[in-house]
Amino acid sequence: MNPHFSRRNFIKTVGALAATSSAYSQRVFALPAKRKIGVALVGLGYYSRDLLAPALQLTQHCELRGIVTGSPEKIPVWQKRYGIADSNVYNYDNMHQVANNPDIDVVYIVLPTSLHEKYSIIAANAGKHVWCEKPMAMTEKECQNIINTCKKNKVQLTIGYRLQHEPNTQTVIQYASAKPYGKIKSVIAHAGYAGGGPGPNNWRGKRAMGGGALYDMGVYPINAARYTSGQEPIAVTAKLAVDRKEFFSEVDEHAFLTLEFKSGLMAECAASVGKNMNVLKAQCEKGWYELSPMQAYSGVRGQTSDGKLLNKTIVNQQAKQMDDDALAIMEETQVLVPGEDGLADIRVVEAALRSHGSGNGRIVL
Ligand code: NAD
Repeated sequence: MNPHFSRRNFIKTVGALAATSSAYSQRVFALPAKRKIGVALVGLGYYSRDLLAPALQLTQHCELRGIVTGSPEKIPVWQKRYGIADSNVYNYDNMHQVANNPDIDVVYIVLPTSLHEKYSIIAANAGKHVWCEKPMAMTEKECQNIINTCKKNKVQLTIGYRLQHEPNTQTVIQYASAKPYGKIKSVIAHAGYAGGGPGPNNWRGKRAMGGGALYDMGVYPINAARYTSGQEPIAVTAKLAVDRKEFFSEVDEHAFLTLEFKSGLMAECAASVGKNMNVLKAQCEKGWYELSPMQAYSGVRGQTSDGKLLNKTIVNQQAKQMDDDALAIMEETQVLVPGEDGLADIRVVEAALRSHGSGNGRIVL
């Protein structure tokens, strides 16, 4: 852990010194310039370029200081746009050298899913905090490897589930324990977009790289079913489907899952990269509440059966996410979305694949 980001230690040290010599402390220990968390983005594709890098400019506690890329032509563009120093530019082969770079506190993995494990582990072994995009990895075992490596290196790990930082989603998460409408009986969670279909070489069309609706979009409804119920599923039944075979020869275009929970609660989850769907609804004993859209970069909104509007606003979801995660580092507190949360979703994803493979059998978790 980078010691200059321990606010508690800083206050402790300054307090002790100030007590011994207040005149000296007033001169020398005037409040230091506010430190920011230095972030390096790994993978400069769509999400880094269009969402995370612009959002970093809106954060209070983060600064985009580094890039890791395999595309040399992107380097001058990013350096010019974001003022990134030559010494903070890496490729995939020398990225481990970030260990010697005090400018970088966090390495944010924004690569195809099949590469999350490898590069999260390189980052953690370099002693950097790891922010890893969803889905966390391909398998539960890979997720566990990331968690173990971060623990071993005493660095924080969080998964980029931006919705858990979004205030209306946070209300739904609070309802899971407060139960203002009584016991939750069922959950519907649907997330999908009418995509044009991946190109022939795009990783989103390849099973081994984490393509397909179940991985790419399915983790949203799975995560939502878990945070809306406040419970872990005990069984999964799933069906995967393809309409446009020309795009989806290897992977699923749509995924349908039924999650069973110990309390008897059932969740109907659906994900798609071919159809628009965007709703989260909890049916309870004494009413209901929903978010629609439940999954969008902005404008997540909802209502309840007794007419309450869930309509809080924030400037930028990703900026809020990264500021929350930066504060967790600075204050040495628990992250909002730990690696275990990403792992729990991938456990369901793997069970869904087994269910589909077994002719939609019920897989007990
Ligand atoms: P993308 O295809 O646009 O970008 C991927 C980047 O990885 C590219 O820069 C590519 O050059 C690089 N790369 C390195 N090695 C590669 C390899 N062997 N094959 C293919 N690409 C390689 O993808 P994206 O949309 O930016 O998604 C990246 C990650 O971000 C994924 O995990 C995705 O699920 C996640 N994502 C999250 C959100 C969100 O809302 N949280 C939104 C979009 C994407």
